[in-house]
Amino acid sequence: MDFKEYITVVPDFPKEGILFKDITTLMENGQVYKHAIDEMAKFAQAKNVDVVVGPEARGFVVGCPVSYVLGVGFVPVRKAGKLPREVIEIQYGLEYGKDTLTMHKDSIKPGQRVLITDDLLATGGTIEATIQMVEKLGGVVAGIAFLIELSYLNGRDKLGQYDVFSLTTY
Ligand code: IMP
Repeated sequence: MDFKEYITVVPDFPKEGILFKDITTLMENGQVYKHAIDEMAKFAQAKNVDVVVGPEARGFVVGCPVSYVLGVGFVPVRKAGKLPREVIEIQYGLEYGKDTLTMHKDSIKPGQRVLITDDLLATGGTIEATIQMVEKLGGVVAGIAFLIELSYLNGRDKLGQYDVFSLTTY
C-alpha cells in the first residue's frame, strides 16, 4: 500500500516554507489507519516489547493502538506542566522551535524493553529527547517506529545505534 496517497501535504503550515505532512486524512480511513498500525506493530512483534512510549499528541495516535495490538502498556511523553505526578524532564530542539518534554518518573521500570513511536521523524530532536528520558529511567530502547520519515532532514543520523522503522519516506 502507498500510504502517501492518504497523507495530505500542506504548504506553509505552521510557517512559510514548511511542507506539513497531515496524517488526519490517513486516520479518517479506517482500513488504511488499521493497516498502518498493524505494520508498525509487526515491526515490534519479535522485539519482546514491554511497553510503548509516544510523545504528544500524534505519538499517541500511533502509539496507543500499537500498544493495544501488542497487548502491552502505553506511556505518554508530554509537554511541561501536563503530567500530574513527579516527572523527569528534558529540553529539546524542534524542527521549528524549542520545548520541554516530560515523563512520569515511575513510568518505566529498569530493564523494560521499550518501543518508541511517533507519527513523523523530522530532525530527530523529539525522539532523541524521548530516548534520553527512557534510558535515564533504565529502559532499553528495543526499536523506534514512525509513520513518516523526512529523510532530507537526516533525523536518522541522530538515531544511528537504534533499530528505526518508518512506513513511508519523503
Ligand atoms: P523532530 O523532533 O524534528 O524530529 O520533529 C518531529 C515532531 O514534530 C513530531 O512529533 C511530529 O509530530 C512533528 N512534526 C514535524 N514536522 C511535521 C509534519 O510535517 N507533519 C506532522 N508533524 C510534524
